[in-house]
Amino acid sequence: MEKFYTDDEAARAHLESLLWPDGPICPRCGVINEATLMQGKSHRPGLYNCRPCDKPFTVTVGTIYERSHIPLHKWVYATHLMTASKKGISAAQLHRMLGFGSYRTAWFMAHRIREAMKGSSGTAPLGGEGQVIEADESYYGKQESPPTLRSDGTPFKTRKYKRQTNMYGSSQKRPIVVLVERGGKARTFHVAEANRETVEKILAANASTDSRLHTDESHLYKRMGKRFAEHASVNHSKDEYARGDVTSNSAEGFFNVFKRGMTGVYQHCGEAYLNRYLVEFEFRHNTRTKLGVNDKERAGLAHKGAAGKRLTLRRPAHSQPSV
Ligand SMILES: [Zn+2]
Repeated sequence: MEKFYTDDEAARAHLESLLWPDGPICPRCGVINEATLMQGKSHRPGLYNCRPCDKPFTVTVGTIYERSHIPLHKWVYATHLMTASKKGISAAQLHRMLGFGSYRTAWFMAHRIREAMKGSSGTAPLGGEGQVIEADESYYGKQESPPTLRSDGTPFKTRKYKRQTNMYGSSQKRPIVVLVERGGKARTFHVAEANRETVEKILAANASTDSRLHTDESHLYKRMGKRFAEHASVNHSKDEYARGDVTSNSAEGFFNVFKRGMTGVYQHCGEAYLNRYLVEFEFRHNTRTKLGVNDKERAGLAHKGAAGKRLTLRRPAHSQPSV
């Protein structure tokens, strides 16, 4: 086991090497490698003083680890566990493996680490010339079984029953739209309703129209598809899953991993948290071994993400979550 999983000093050195490859960076003035390490017992470990602005700082300033009473090596270990488990790791399991704190501490840590995993597909439109983007929508969440009998005990007629399931489908389950670059990255969207308007907005903002667009037979993509270099679809209702290289298997594969993880590992997820779990599965997809990223590098990317939240996390001290 790496020393930085069990030793605080090693964990700090590890984070410094990841976040400061060219020397300490002052979070206030941004200068690199112009700080003095404050030696001596009266100083916190890893405390630097910036020579230009004469202000002290450490590697955790502005990161998700700042102001945390959790030892740094526990953060490093928890990040490793979360980024290396294919389907995620439950807070209960995390709590057991970290061997400290409470279930609630582990739960908070996991959500902070998900924060660090945000934005793994970048901000640029996905795809591009010669590339395939698969778009698909799916539903996640509780689905109450539709009533099969009327209150007077007579069965619904087929048409009425169908209308009923659709109504349940949109009100009980949570629609998710995913765009997947074939052999590349995925970006997910938790939407209020998966309708044509929503899907078109997502595609317009997140996909390069130079790409070839592959979907299933859904009518949602037909109009927007005309703006792409190509739009081809497979007809799942006719058991067609691939025709030549036309398929939406990557998008469905993403949903399969997500649903297996959510069902098997996380079990419960309030609507308010769905996006955070999507971020987590997206992160692992976008840093998967097939893209040449190993476990250590993947955890490193999450640590860098933790620091990348420096600016966005800067807010009045009273609103800082105390994890
Ligand atoms: Zn400075």
